[in-house]
Amino acid sequence: MTLKPVLFWFRRDLRLRDNPALQACLSSGQPVIPVYILEDQKNASRALGGASRWWLHRSLESLKASLEKCGSALILKQGDPAAVLAALIEETSANGIYWNRRYDKEGIDTDKAVKSTFIEAGIRVETFNGSLLREPWEVKTGSNTHYKVFTPFWKNLKAMGPARQKACAPVTKIPSPNPMPMGVCLEDWSLYPAKPDWAKAFPKQWTPGEKGAHQCLDQFLAGPVNDYDASRNIPNIKGTSKLSPHLAFGEISPLEIWHKALLAIETGANEKECWKFLSEIAWREFSYHLLYFYPRLSEIPLRGAFAHYPWLDDKESLQAWQRGLTGYPMVDAGMRELWQTGWMHNRVRMIAASFLIKHLLVPWQKGEAWFWDTLVDADIASNSASWQWVAGCGADASPYFRIFNPFGQGEKFDADGDYVRRYIPELKKLPNKYIHQPWSAPAEILEKAGIELGRDYPKPIVDHKAARQRALSGYQQVKEIAS
Ligand code: FAD
Repeated sequence: MTLKPVLFWFRRDLRLRDNPALQACLSSGQPVIPVYILEDQKNASRALGGASRWWLHRSLESLKASLEKCGSALILKQGDPAAVLAALIEETSANGIYWNRRYDKEGIDTDKAVKSTFIEAGIRVETFNGSLLREPWEVKTGSNTHYKVFTPFWKNLKAMGPARQKACAPVTKIPSPNPMPMGVCLEDWSLYPAKPDWAKAFPKQWTPGEKGAHQCLDQFLAGPVNDYDASRNIPNIKGTSKLSPHLAFGEISPLEIWHKALLAIETGANEKECWKFLSEIAWREFSYHLLYFYPRLSEIPLRGAFAHYPWLDDKESLQAWQRGLTGYPMVDAGMRELWQTGWMHNRVRMIAASFLIKHLLVPWQKGEAWFWDTLVDADIASNSASWQWVAGCGADASPYFRIFNPFGQGEKFDADGDYVRRYIPELKKLPNKYIHQPWSAPAEILEKAGIELGRDYPKPIVDHKAARQRALSGYQQVKEIAS
């Protein structure tokens, strides 16, 4: 008797290693049909951003190759998941579906509906945690509630440790049904945006896929991790892991990162620095914790009074920020790094986000949406939680009245101006003393550097001191509403 097949539904877990749902699927002993569905997005503003589409294309290519090495294939489908899966079950007589859980509201709603429909139809549905160290509901305060502050969350998560003690065994062979159903061709989805032509710009920097993810982690743990705490704030050096897009697409699991970091400690890496790195991985966990308990994290401020902040919401300011033309070099370098590479250094993300919200008074949701479209690591939980954190309206937020000084931050974290010069070549001849404040350079220095402000590089779009004061008086209004 031929065994009926089961479906494995890939989502943001585009890997074969340490994939618990795939492992369970294989343990069933049945032939497996791996499927990826490009889902119709009910919430249009949450459709995949341009940079994510680019990454997804490359990641699926890599996954397809890995599956083929295991004697399997990747079946690509597009549409409403319930309909696509029902059609596949009808075609193949599959009697089970396996997937790793997701935590955004739209994903949860879709999965719940799919699950109950198929269970009613007598299909086995099994779901797993493949993308977090702990499920959001497992990490609880002493009074049995969710956390709103990171430090106690991390303390508890660290004490609990990951839910699974060991990563899943590597997958080398995947049994296939005969015949395998047909899917569409990846190229038909045209995931590559034409403008900017990231297909040309990005490949040198990034290696999407599982192999690239592990290379990235191994290189980081072999050296840079030992100076992580200090180097992670300097945008012009490779002081961080750059694992974020790999994690966002599930090409590596946080459990594997956890184990490899602990192994690195055993083999001589600096223990304190490795734990600092793992605490950043825990910020991702904390963001998912918040997303799960506040499903509208990307839209609604967690501190309700911030809904009444007197935003200016000026289109021209937003555009200047998006294009890296605010006249504040550190902000502009960050925004250009984002456009050119699909990524921005964390320190600069904080500076650029703070500038948009507090200096330009553009609502944080507009910045969140731009990052969502342009980051290769765009992640609904981390992006929303971070924007709320910077805005001061989040759970464990940086206080609103702490307003980053965009040139002071540049002088501190890019003291020799190399980061700014890399992304703003028009300023490259300016001496270090003025690189973060070109407006303060004497006329002869500007002339010698070949810069006319307002022509070659913008004059500051707002005056720092006046903007700071304006932001604080807006905050005063919020405080009055809140009290
Ligand atoms: P590393 O320093 O090597 O950290 C390792 C991993 O820990 C990261 O890959 C990431 O998964 C996680 N991590 C580190 N810092 C944070 C953090 N503050 N919050 C959540 N997770 C963190 N990160 C995203 O992955 N996707 C986003 O869409 C995103 N949007 C952001 C928006 C703003 C305004 C800000 C201030 C931060 C945002 N971050 C986001 C968090 C952080 O900037 C990136 O995770 C980090 O820069 C990625 O680089 P890395 O992998 O080299 O980080």
